[in-house]
Amino acid sequence: MRFTIAIDGPAAAGKGTISKAVAAHFGFAHLDTGLLYRAVGARTLDGTDAVAAARALQAGDIEAENLRTAEVAQAASKVAVIPEVRAALVDFQRAFARRAGGAVLDGRDIGTVICPEAEAKLFVTASAEVRAERRFLELEAKGAEVTRAQVLADVKERDARDMDRSEAPLKPAGDAVLIDTSALSIDEAVAKAIATIEARIA
Ligand code: C5P
Repeated sequence: MRFTIAIDGPAAAGKGTISKAVAAHFGFAHLDTGLLYRAVGARTLDGTDAVAAARALQAGDIEAENLRTAEVAQAASKVAVIPEVRAALVDFQRAFARRAGGAVLDGRDIGTVICPEAEAKLFVTASAEVRAERRFLELEAKGAEVTRAQVLADVKERDARDMDRSEAPLKPAGDAVLIDTSALSIDEAVAKAIATIEARIA
């Protein structure tokens, strides 16, 4: 059985949590495509050329440990504007999407560019303030020394770069179902996502 679920949205909207829960619920494989851009971004911090890093990327590179930092997130959104970087990552994502047994991919352009034919598409969003607060609490719990204001500025900067780029900008596909998680608990957001996809399967 091939069934692709595309889950897009801005940083810290809840995509990752929803995607993992949806994949577990349906027994599908899950790919967090942000990790591909993070892995490339991390290589550029060592001085490697972004396009060369994207072309040389191996599946195992997304398991690296240091990919969740704010510095790598910014580097990821910078390499993500480069068309050759995006092109180098397309085949891997499309092959993952069409694997037997079903797949959930989350990112920014899954429903619009990578898998426009996905059987179910969600666009998960929340206000910048709510997203920044969630990210701040996550970073604080990890012992990072950041302020709320810095995290909000960071979220807004990344949003602007992701939405304003000419190649595969962040936007909902015309046939995506929008889920605003600003006022939802994790359980409520997951339940809404699963119900939406079940309606699509039926
Ligand atoms: O989702 P995450 O925050 O890990 O993504 C890091 C960055 O990678 C994003 O800010 C975005 O610039 C880029 N990205 C992208 N397309 C995707 C996934 C992530 O451009 N499908």
